[in-house]
Amino acid sequence: MKLIAITGSGRSGSTLLSLLLSQSKDVFNLGQLRHLASAFLLNAPCSCGQTLQNCAVYQRVFADPRAPDPVEFDRRLKSFFKAAKKVKAWSVETELANLEANHSEALHELSALLDVISEVTACTTFVESSKMPEMALALELARPGSLFALNLIRDPRAVAVSWHKKSPRLMSTARSIREYSARQARLGAWAPSLGDRFHTMRYEDFAADPVRALSKVATWAGLPPPGMFHSKYDAVLSWDQQHLFPPANESVLAKRSEALTVSESVSWKGKENAHIHLLTRILAARDVKPYT
Ligand SMILES: [Zn+2]
Repeated sequence: MKLIAITGSGRSGSTLLSLLLSQSKDVFNLGQLRHLASAFLLNAPCSCGQTLQNCAVYQRVFADPRAPDPVEFDRRLKSFFKAAKKVKAWSVETELANLEANHSEALHELSALLDVISEVTACTTFVESSKMPEMALALELARPGSLFALNLIRDPRAVAVSWHKKSPRLMSTARSIREYSARQARLGAWAPSLGDRFHTMRYEDFAADPVRALSKVATWAGLPPPGMFHSKYDAVLSWDQQHLFPPANESVLAKRSEALTVSESVSWKGKENAHIHLLTRILAARDVKPYT
C-alpha cells in the first residue's frame, strides 16, 4: 500500500490537487481522513451524491467488523494529534517510540481502517489531504504501507488572506499564521528522516505550470503521469471514483466541475488586505516568511 499525504498549508488548492492525483482507477482519494469518522457520524453528504452512511464505499467500510468504531476512533485519533503536536522533534526516535506506544490503539485502528478501504475500493494507492502533519505522522507510525509526504506550501500572506476571508477575525487569522509556521517547523525537522519520501510543492509553481508540477509529483511518488490536461492550463476531471466529504473545499465540492482551468488566485495581493500582509510579516516564522 502506498499513501501520499498532502500536508503543509490549507487554503492552497489541496482539494483540487487531491482530485488531480487520484484520476487513475488504481488511486483512491481519501479526502481529509482526519474528518472521516466525524463526517460519517454526522451522515454528511458524499460527493458521489449519497450521504456517507449510504455511500457505496463508506457504508461498506464501516459495516465491516474489522473497521474501527467511528466514535472511539475519532476520539483516539484526536488524542494522538494532540500528543504528536507536543513532541518537539519528530526526528527523535525515542520520542516517536513513546508516542507510538501510548497511542497504539489509534494507530492500529487507522491501519485496519485503511486495509478495509483498500479491500472495498480495490485500490492500493491512496491520496490523503488532511494537510495536518500529525495525520501524515499517524500514517507513518501506523505503517499500513509506505508514506509519501507531499508538503504543499503557498505564500503565507495568501494563506492568511484566504483564512481571513473564511473567518474574518484578526485573532483567528493570527492563530492560523502561527499554526502554518509551526507546521512548517515540524515538517522541516521531520523531513530528513523521510528522505526521498518528502517532497515540497509550491502552489505558485503548480499554478504557473500545472503539468510540470504534477509530473514531478507523479515521478516522485510513482503515480501515472498527469494525462488529464488537454492544454497548458485546462484539464478534464472525472468524479466517478470520488467520495469526498466536508470540510473539503466547499466550492469545489458544490460545483463538482469536470472542466478545470488552473489559474493562480491573486486577489489576496489587493491593497485592502495590507493589514493581513503586515500581520503575516510580523507573525510568520523566518522559514515561512513571505516570498518577496
Ligand atoms: Zn460516496
